[in-house]
Amino acid sequence: MYALTLNKPFDLEYQQVELPILQQGWATLRLVAVSVCGSDFHAYRGGNPMQTYPRILGHELCAVVEQICGPSESVRVGDKVVLMPYLSCGHCKACRKGKGNACSSLSVYGVHRDGAMADYVQAPLSQLIVVDPCMEPIDAALIEPLAISAHAVRRAGLKPGDTVLVSGAGFIGLGAALQAELAGCSVILSDTHEKRRAFAGKHAPDFLAVLDPLDPSYAVQVAQLTSQEGPDCIIDATGNAVSMASNVSLLSNGGRMVYVGISKDPIALDGRAFHIRETELLDSRAATIEDFQHVIDLVQQGLLVPSQLVTHCTHFNGQVVDTFRQWNELGGEVFKAVMLMTE
Ligand SMILES: [Zn+2]
Ligand SMILES: [Zn+2]
Repeated sequence: MYALTLNKPFDLEYQQVELPILQQGWATLRLVAVSVCGSDFHAYRGGNPMQTYPRILGHELCAVVEQICGPSESVRVGDKVVLMPYLSCGHCKACRKGKGNACSSLSVYGVHRDGAMADYVQAPLSQLIVVDPCMEPIDAALIEPLAISAHAVRRAGLKPGDTVLVSGAGFIGLGAALQAELAGCSVILSDTHEKRRAFAGKHAPDFLAVLDPLDPSYAVQVAQLTSQEGPDCIIDATGNAVSMASNVSLLSNGGRMVYVGISKDPIALDGRAFHIRETELLDSRAATIEDFQHVIDLVQQGLLVPSQLVTHCTHFNGQVVDTFRQWNELGGEVFKAVMLMTE
């Protein structure tokens, strides 16, 4: 089979590789569509400290089950599936608490183990979720990143009528904002990139506002939109330590903040602002089967149409190395890119 391997930063190769022998309780999947995550671009640029090399990238996928080793009740050959691409150990403290998404030795496809930018990938049956055969492959491939957003929204504990500020209008941020809106909340979205703000404004016309956090009147605007009380919740999807720290001063008293982006820098919170609000601060890591199922329900009801958020698409062949390089250079212009494995 062919696979897209990242040998080291900026060194991608479309090459022939062998599939390992299929393990008991695992399936071989034939890829149909794989979407490119911000973390794949990060890995390409050498910016992800958790990345290991050489590595086949990719963890957001739609596939068809090609072969199964051992008995299986939930999954059959020919099923269209999505993958929960994080393997937990099952016995560390987090796993024992039912928080496998925060496993102390979480192994993520495309990061710690070979991923899905390939003709085939293998996975434990327990990590597969069967979707409707009619679901569009691109919609199915985007369920994983939307489940990341869903997990953050669930961590936020939102109630209908709450006002939510989502910082960062990348795919995860916009996905969280759209799902907060579906949960009955009023949404303010912010991003420093003008193109991302315009994209969000086009796809989410009912948000209260889409703001620029670098605008000198940003804090005043957020206060005005929330009756001078601040949002009930702030979901920070920027991965930017300055944003993650300064957002505390925008939050309402008694409010909750959820970080869904990773910052490699220390987050310097204003202790007084944090204290007087009795701020609840949570992180959101990966996603669970409940989050995947929630997103699948929203997609099947037509409440979310993930493919509408795709801006770039290519076929998976010898050209894919150049295409990936071009997408990386385009930066913020590539809101979401997808590779299709079938012509
Ligand atoms: Zn991802
Ligand atoms: Zn574990």
